[in-house]
Amino acid sequence: MMALFKPRMRGFRPPQSDFSTWEEVLVASARVELTTFVTGRQKTTLGTLVSPAPGQASDLPLDEPVNSLVICHALRHPLHGDMLIDAGLDRSFSIRPLGSIEGLAASRFVSPFSQGEGEDLASQLSAAGIRPELVLFTHLHPDHTAGLEDLGGSMPGICGRGEAPLRYWPFVFTRHLAGITEMSLLDFRKAREMPLLGRCIDVFGDGSVWAVHTPGHTKGHVSYLAVSKDGPVLLVGDASHTRIGFEQGIAPGFSRNPAEARASLGRLRAFAQAYPDTLLVFGHQL
Ligand SMILES: [Zn+2]
Repeated sequence: MMALFKPRMRGFRPPQSDFSTWEEVLVASARVELTTFVTGRQKTTLGTLVSPAPGQASDLPLDEPVNSLVICHALRHPLHGDMLIDAGLDRSFSIRPLGSIEGLAASRFVSPFSQGEGEDLASQLSAAGIRPELVLFTHLHPDHTAGLEDLGGSMPGICGRGEAPLRYWPFVFTRHLAGITEMSLLDFRKAREMPLLGRCIDVFGDGSVWAVHTPGHTKGHVSYLAVSKDGPVLLVGDASHTRIGFEQGIAPGFSRNPAEARASLGRLRAFAQAYPDTLLVFGHQL
């Protein structure tokens, strides 16, 4: 039974990529289409979504209630077809506040979610005629993996080296990755340094989707830069849950290593400043 929790892992083999500047990428890369889905929400306070360093932004209304949106994305590649970036929530969250997050102590450690009728990932994908064959993960927190539960069938996944699914059995755990046939781990130690963003991997070798090494929130957290028909889109993931955290350079909540998270955020902000036409998509806010 425990084998269900952990897919087979292998190293991701980066394809040949000839890009070394973002100008080249923005002119010559393949183009993808991107659709963002809101699959549920979590009532919380701003204070759980940002972790100011001592003395940083002390005027933020940390007690202010906010709805943290649980989002994920479908990406259509001209050659590689439909894929997901993260998976949001499955439909069990419309019935139970913790949905498919299991364990004796789950309700002590996880705040309740809510989900409207038809808002689960599977329903929205089928309404949009999208059939993903691959999942790229920013990280493996359960609100980024749950939606896989009712997709049926199995598919490979890609995530950063060092990521691990939530597994404190029998206290808090999930079976979300049971359908992942094989997880390819992005190893940034050998990745190329790209301007401003640092270590990046050109996932398909055509410049259309870049995995950006942004550790801190989790050990192997990855943001994605996708070049869409309308221009570049920076899917920040949980390198910043919120716009205000991004704008003020404040580490995201629940960060394993806040100093590392701030450094990652600094690189993303530098890119956003240099390429102001980039659409920024935050981890839990649209
Ligand atoms: Zn997270």
